[in-house]
Amino acid sequence: MHYEDANGSGETHLQRLIDGESMARRKKIYEGKAKILFEGPEPGTIVQYFKDDATAFNAEKKDVIEGKGVLNNMLSEYFMNGLTSVGIPNHFMKRLNMREQLVRSVEIIPLEVIVRNYSAGTMAKRLGMEEGTQLPRPIVEYCLKEDKLGDPLVTEEHIAAFGWASQQDMDDILSLALRVNDFLSGVMYGVGIKLVDFKIEIGRVYDGDFMRLIVADEISPDSCRLWDIETGQKLDKDVFRRDLGSLTDAYTEVAKRLGVMPKGATPIARPTLIN
Ligand code: 5GP
Repeated sequence: MHYEDANGSGETHLQRLIDGESMARRKKIYEGKAKILFEGPEPGTIVQYFKDDATAFNAEKKDVIEGKGVLNNMLSEYFMNGLTSVGIPNHFMKRLNMREQLVRSVEIIPLEVIVRNYSAGTMAKRLGMEEGTQLPRPIVEYCLKEDKLGDPLVTEEHIAAFGWASQQDMDDILSLALRVNDFLSGVMYGVGIKLVDFKIEIGRVYDGDFMRLIVADEISPDSCRLWDIETGQKLDKDVFRRDLGSLTDAYTEVAKRLGVMPKGATPIARPTLIN
């Protein structure tokens, strides 16, 4: 009896069982809305497990979207490797399996760093702008990472006064955010997708006495707004937030265009019983 993936490239039922077993052996450090962090095999490493759970509006809307974790694991690997290739430091080390990746352990700065190229989402609402208006230049915003407060927008004054990051950190964070924006905008433009906005998180790492900041967490359609250039079709988490159709189809489209998944493949494991 074999379990075989229906399309030859997705997560098979058997693979899911094996990955699930390896996850059960790991020591859990933290469970978030979309990921679980486990202790890694070496000191200073972490295993990031991507769940299928989708949440929006500070977890008021929830669902399980089969295959989302696999897609985000692969897409985040693709984007982080891309950042590495252009010299933008980040936490990614290697993908371990369909749902897990090994990353460098960091001390997360408690800020969500948002870069916007077109108005959308909370900024469009806050400023009464039509969504999709091109901004005169990329705008960087900071939100405090605090679910209980709904991740409120904060200014550099708050960040400095409350000591969440120093002025030097903020200079480095701004530079990292804009470099990531240039890189990601170009990659997405190359496959006919407009990078409307995105969120990144930044972590501190220590090399001896030397501290530096690197991109951490994930980069995926969960944390970006991606619109098809021709049709304006949304290919990101707004599909879930706004009930616009299948989230898996949207993320699969992004993955296929980037060549992260072979054409014709789907990420969803459908076990097929063969005698
Ligand atoms: P907005 O502030 O318009 O809701 O979000 C701006 C951008 O940051 C969007 O691409 C959105 O997906 C991302 N973003 C904002 N907050 C979060 C968050 O808490 N989690 C994730 N994954 N992305 C976020």
